[in-house]
Amino acid sequence: MYNLIFMGPPGAGKGTQSQLISEKFSIPQISTGDILRANVRDKTELGQEAKGYMDSGALVPDELVVSMVAGRLTEADCSKGCILDGFPRNVSQAGALEDTLAELNKSIDIVVGIEVEDAEVVRRLSGRRVCRECGATYHTSFNKPSNADTCDKCSGELYQRDDDKEETIEARLKVYRDETLPLVEYYKGKKLFKGVAGVGSVDDITGAIVSAIEECCDNT
Ligand code: ADP
Ligand code: AMP
Repeated sequence: MYNLIFMGPPGAGKGTQSQLISEKFSIPQISTGDILRANVRDKTELGQEAKGYMDSGALVPDELVVSMVAGRLTEADCSKGCILDGFPRNVSQAGALEDTLAELNKSIDIVVGIEVEDAEVVRRLSGRRVCRECGATYHTSFNKPSNADTCDKCSGELYQRDDDKEETIEARLKVYRDETLPLVEYYKGKKLFKGVAGVGSVDDITGAIVSAIEECCDNT
């Protein structure tokens, strides 16, 4: 069983890598951003509360996100582990996650920090395109779909996220530095953190993440 956290600035490649590792280890990817966007799309109460925060690049309040993840972790497909992509985003969420996992007799095996500099993040986010149907991620230059508007995997429509605009990207990077980056020290203190260089080919980065997971989980 692997319970994994993928951390890193917006655009580091957490979603891209989580999808691949999810397939490799047959464990689900739990992306809080994807779940929140589905709620916004479906105009649920949670989606309506979350939308303003997401549009401005701020974090959605902890109580909303924590209960959403706690519910998801009790679902049957998490019995063999999961990849948390984009959660926790601050120390308070990390504490709540530990409590939730303890109640389920589980714990985190490794926190993978995907490391990418700001200028590269801006290039990646400004060209990101996402499939409305299956959530697959592309880039207009670095990972082009065969047809600009169509998903190679499911033929769904590709779109640009509202928060992938330049002004919002800057705000999201500041939120990452101020609120999420302290988690690196937090997880280093617990000997769970492993940094992986996030620049280079997607396949090479996947290989480095798999090695980090296998190394850490063999040692435990
Ligand atoms: P995150 O989930 O961390 O926000 P994504 O996985 O959505 O990041 O990746 C952001 C963008 O960068 C996407 O357009 C994706 O196709 C692209 N991308 C992901 N990994 C790489 C890579 N190793 N090199 C270049 N571009 C990448
Ligand atoms: P992401 O898809 O991870 O880039 O997240 C998109 C947006 O969803 C973020 O900018 C936040 O507004 C919100 N969000 C996602 N995950 C969280 C979280 N763990 N805590 C608070 N807000 C979140």
